[in-house]
Amino acid sequence: MKKTEKVMIKCPICGKNVEFYKNKKLPPNFPFCSQRCKLIDLGKWLNEEYVISEPIPEEYEQIDDEE
Ligand SMILES: [Zn+2]
Repeated sequence: MKKTEKVMIKCPICGKNVEFYKNKKLPPNFPFCSQRCKLIDLGKWLNEEYVISEPIPEEYEQIDDEE
């Protein structure tokens, strides 16, 4: 029988290596290296939701002209 299988992934936020064990309980911050990165990711999602829920009117694109 295999022993606990160690798996290494990279934190999607900062790219730091994150270790976990396949047949053990996943770490609370998985797949992030820390709670900080987890919160950053959560913030990203919330921001995206905010953007989607408030679409920029097409007229705004014309204002973007620089003179
Ligand atoms: Zn991280």
